[in-house]
Amino acid sequence: MRIPIIAGNWKMHKTILETKEFLQQFCPLVNGSKARILIAPPFLAIPACVESVAGTRIEIGAQTMHEAEMGAFTGEVSAKMIKEAGASFVLLGHSERRHYFGETNKMIDHKVKRALSAHLLPILCIGETEKEREAGETNLVLQKQLSECLESSSAQDLAKIVIAYEPVWAIGTGKTATPQIAQEAHLLCRTFLEKKYGKEAAQKISILYGGSVKADTISALMDQPDIDGALVGGASLDPKGFAQIVNFT
Ligand code: PEP
Repeated sequence: MRIPIIAGNWKMHKTILETKEFLQQFCPLVNGSKARILIAPPFLAIPACVESVAGTRIEIGAQTMHEAEMGAFTGEVSAKMIKEAGASFVLLGHSERRHYFGETNKMIDHKVKRALSAHLLPILCIGETEKEREAGETNLVLQKQLSECLESSSAQDLAKIVIAYEPVWAIGTGKTATPQIAQEAHLLCRTFLEKKYGKEAAQKISILYGGSVKADTISALMDQPDIDGALVGGASLDPKGFAQIVNFT
């Protein structure tokens, strides 16, 4: 019922030229994929990416955005600007944004609403740190993030949102969560959403896993009933390697 989604987060990698070279190699390799394919390049490369994927099913998005509609926020980019550049989605609340740039659940809640009003698909990232997991606080942390980051969102909004569960200890560390650990967290999130928004909304929402996903770990993750896709960082930078993930069986 839920179409698999594989999303690449390029972080601060690839110039416009490098982006075009990547897509020239990548696009022909993923024609037969059963997944919805998303790529989030740096802001500057969004228009070039949109042009390069024209005529394919690949969608382009941004890695963050500001929560205000417009204004005196030097260096920031708005949802409307991202949308007009041809993007269809935006990552929100990535752990690197929370950690290095001080994004709070409240700010992320506002960003989700702003993205929705600009007709961008928000991919809301949540996840516990290693310390929180070891202290047995995973459930509490995930519930708090979901509750506060979706505070202003209704059940109708939920149909236009994707969640990415990304345990912070697995991001960029090479430590993928086992399929069982990831499934347990995904089920917890879905159960929480069911309590808040009802069964139908909770069954419809896609929950992606992120954290050191590679070509040899994607299939076992995707076999889990509540894992609907992946958000891939490092392994999305190489066209052949990312195509293998996107073409998982
Ligand atoms: C990410 O940044 O969202 C991510 C999951 O990174 P990596 O795949 O490199 O762990």
